Amino acid sequence: MLAEIITIGDELLIGQVIDTNSAYIGKQLNKIGVSVYQITSIQDDKTHILQAFKDAESRVDVIIITGGLGPTKDDITKKTIAEYFNDTLIRDDSVEKNIQDLWHKYVRQTLLQVNLDQALVPSKATVLMNTLGTAPGMWMERNNKVFVSLPGVPFEMEGLIDREVLPRVRDKFDCPYILHRTLLIFGLGESTLAARIEDWEDALPPEIKLAYLPSLGNMRLRLSSKGFDKSKVISEVQKQIDTLIPLIKEEFVGFEEDDASIEAIIGKQLTKIGKTVATAESCTGGKIAERFTANSGASAYFKGSVVSYATESKINILGVSKEAIDTDSVVSAKVAESMAKQVLELFDTDFAIATTGNAGPTKGDSDVEVGTVFIAIATKTGVYSEKFMLGDLRLKVINKGANKAFEMLLK
Ligand code: ATP
Ligand code: MG
Repeated sequence: MLAEIITIGDELLIGQVIDTNSAYIGKQLNKIGVSVYQITSIQDDKTHILQAFKDAESRVDVIIITGGLGPTKDDITKKTIAEYFNDTLIRDDSVEKNIQDLWHKYVRQTLLQVNLDQALVPSKATVLMNTLGTAPGMWMERNNKVFVSLPGVPFEMEGLIDREVLPRVRDKFDCPYILHRTLLIFGLGESTLAARIEDWEDALPPEIKLAYLPSLGNMRLRLSSKGFDKSKVISEVQKQIDTLIPLIKEEFVGFEEDDASIEAIIGKQLTKIGKTVATAESCTGGKIAERFTANSGASAYFKGSVVSYATESKINILGVSKEAIDTDSVVSAKVAESMAKQVLELFDTDFAIATTGNAGPTKGDSDVEVGTVFIAIATKTGVYSEKFMLGDLRLKVINKGANKAFEMLLK
């Protein structure tokens, strides 16, 4: 059972809008055991659309299309689908009523004929009612193959996928159960991890697939399996996880599917032991604080942050000594440690994290190499720091820096 996704819209091809629809649809289809074979993005162009339909139909059972259903002339998906199926457009009363209802509820402008014409659908289509917008979804079948056309607006498309499309696909096709379990691992590079678990990996049964997904100094390790016997799939994956975890006991923090993150784990541990944390952030610009606060219940352990970005803020607000900055550099172990100690006192916490670094692309306030970051952790009894070289891409330095800081605090 295979599917393809075709996203239509000029804006996708010039990078103006990022195709998030495919990612959502792929994820949802996967949950019901449908594998996505290919994702294609094409222009609002009849010849391209017809060709993409034909290619997809030759390969897979279900083709999901988004975009190009608007009332304007550039949106031609619906007409093209009708042509592809040798069909004509007819007015659907329930869609017309939906358009009028939506118009009365939300829109002040006059309802135009082009808006009402969104109620035109191919006569062979099963209408998928879009209660959030004026463009309906359409389900077409031919020779046991299914074409589903959905509006491009993400929240409208998502509602239709969940309410209308997934149940219908499930009914029509026999779908196996697919399971993914993704382990979040900190402090191990890809090759080190691979070497550590080599014997375990070699012994994996063929039905369990393994993927290494490194990102910004973290690792995600995904185990996937599928089958028609759901409980067997679950127990076999679990068996492998049970033998894997002892090999990465120190570095494993949780499962992505359970919304685990290193900051959430830290939050839980701090809450449990009744301790608190504050941050003094320079090069991470509040990223660490933001990630703490994204977890509900953060007020139990996260006291606050000073984003002391400029050198004078480190001196005037945090009280870092000017001599330390002058003798060592604003990006140094001494300054990071001083920032951590000062913010610990300022917020009266049990732990403090401080970052100072140069995220690039130019040298800025400091005289150190781009990508140099010092991270310090202070407690009531001491302080320690580490130096990292995180590369020359600004956002990467910031995000990797935050990950490294969490990693240091967890240890
Ligand atoms: P409507 O009736 O609302 O106009 P439509 O099907 O015509 O629906 P489009 O005009 O193609 O939709 O796209 C509407 C908006 O939806 C676009 O401006 C874009 O922001 C967003 N969009 C379209 N396709 C995608 C996609 N693949 N991923 C993310 N966003 C998308
Ligand atoms: Mg469009």
